[in-house]
Amino acid sequence: MAETTTICVARGDGIGPEIMDATLQILEAGGARIDIEEIEAGREVYERGVSSGIGEGAWETLRDNRVLLKAPITTPQGGGYKSLNVTIRKTLSLYANVRPCRAYSPYVPSKHPGMDVTVIRENEEDLYSGIEYRQSGEMTQALKFISRPGTERLCRYAFEYAQAQGRKKVTCMTKDNILKATDGLFHEVFEEVAADYPDIKSDHLIIDIGTARVATSPTEFDVLVAPNLYGDVLSDVTAELTGSVGLCGSANVGDEFAMFEAIHGSAPDIAGRGIANPSGLIHGAIMMLTHIGQGDVASRINNAWLKTLEDGVHTPDIYNESHSQPAPASTDEFTDAVVERMGEEPVDFDPVEHPIQDPPTYSEASYRIPPAREEKKELVGVDVFLEWRDGTPSDLAEVLNGLDSGALELSAITNRGMKVWPDPMPETFVSDHWQCRFEADQALEVADVLSLLKEVDLVGLDLIKTEHLYNFDGERGYTRGQGE
Ligand code: NAD
Repeated sequence: MAETTTICVARGDGIGPEIMDATLQILEAGGARIDIEEIEAGREVYERGVSSGIGEGAWETLRDNRVLLKAPITTPQGGGYKSLNVTIRKTLSLYANVRPCRAYSPYVPSKHPGMDVTVIRENEEDLYSGIEYRQSGEMTQALKFISRPGTERLCRYAFEYAQAQGRKKVTCMTKDNILKATDGLFHEVFEEVAADYPDIKSDHLIIDIGTARVATSPTEFDVLVAPNLYGDVLSDVTAELTGSVGLCGSANVGDEFAMFEAIHGSAPDIAGRGIANPSGLIHGAIMMLTHIGQGDVASRINNAWLKTLEDGVHTPDIYNESHSQPAPASTDEFTDAVVERMGEEPVDFDPVEHPIQDPPTYSEASYRIPPAREEKKELVGVDVFLEWRDGTPSDLAEVLNGLDSGALELSAITNRGMKVWPDPMPETFVSDHWQCRFEADQALEVADVLSLLKEVDLVGLDLIKTEHLYNFDGERGYTRGQGE
């Protein structure tokens, strides 16, 4: 008899428990060879005062089993709570978020009948670092991280996915015309990885026009790859274009763990009413089955689900007069309809055949500290951030130029990234948050920076943070201010 895989299940909250019950019934009817260990995550855990939102012992259970099927979880507003979804993705290093979005026209009306787009979203970095500060009376700030290895493994995953799924093109989307260092690195690494896959077309679009084109002509796209925040927005656009955000599943994949879910949230507006569409989580479960080597079961469930759609059994979110049965189906009725059709194949849609692949093997967890890169890193300056409201940029420059700053010289002052000194333009709007750039034409020691900071403090300026400026092999590792 084929081997059974133990999976972790989290029922979530909002519509989570309803759609999880439906999905587990369908998995059982489909003959999934799984045992289940439940973990607690979501509202009840938050309400017990556990701010991470995940139950005691859950990480160990996850480590034992490596696969999680998770229903949506509400992130409590305020109270400093972090999103548990993001915590799970980052703790387990689930670096690729795969979101296939396909139209099921005419049974689910979509303006783009032929669309079949998969968004592969980076899942750990970018603004989802969640590191934010209030630094002055007026200014808040968030940190965006893009790393070379993080981007490389994501892009490689996207091309490997494209190859395995017989896809033809991978399109990268960034905003590297503005974010030269961070999105610029993402784009550069994408091009490097693309060169290893000459049989797959690749291109790059700026995210704003790219999203607009996806929204108007999704059939021109195949696989999309993007940094975390853009990918999050893009995949909601593509999911909604299919006809309902309730249809699409999502896989969060890392080297050692994988988590499968619906792409939508906990839908508190319809929770408890028995009308939620369980299809997103069913699709997450289908991806999970393929991942654990049960492509046969994945195909059986997928085909029963397609036949259910064709037969017009539709929950209210996809209900339409031309192709639905007279009354919309409840979650339970939809579930029963899929179970009844197990073993059947769709007539209009092409039957689906998921690959039967070997289940993944896992290694012992250990931190992998990256080796040093062979390049010369030189400290060449410092950005000193001040809260200040005692005059014009030229007044501030006068104070700073009066400091004993050693080899460091004031080269520019910017405010919200816009150069305001030298050559100030009084039309430029300024806040109370000033970035004062000191540079040297020689390599510096950290001690040079520290003695400058001491001077800044001595004259009573309100020093709020600093950022070191480095050159790497003589190339500047920091951007110029706008207008500098
Ligand atoms: P949402 O996706 O929960 O709901 C958006 C809209 O889509 C609502 O009108 C909802 O009724 C509808 N909808 C969503 N899923 C549906 C389904 N299966 N069937 C029918 N209709 C469905 O987004 P939201 O309201 O912005 O978020 C609610 C909560 O979910 C928030 O706390 C958010 O943080 C959380 N969330 C969790 C996840 C996750 O667990 N992965 C993802 C996104 C949002």
